[in-house]
Amino acid sequence: MAYRIDENVCIACGACEPVCPVECISETDGGKRSIAEADCIDCGACAGVCPVQCIAEVD
Ligand code: SF4
Ligand code: SF4
Repeated sequence: MAYRIDENVCIACGACEPVCPVECISETDGGKRSIAEADCIDCGACAGVCPVQCIAEVD
């Protein structure tokens, strides 16, 4: 399991990046964020701080 960002909804605020304990969230073109799902430990911290709820758990 891992979390994934819906880049169509992300507003590029950056709030999720510093709260990830394994630093697997990085900036993509335009300032939106992307999760390296192979490194995600499924903690849910990022989803809790996203103001537009565009981070969700996936299989
Ligand atoms: S669920 Fe946790 S480990 Fe995975 S990207 Fe979000 S903050 Fe990082
Ligand atoms: S907190 Fe949400 S809106 Fe902000 S950069 Fe992360 S995914 Fe995008």
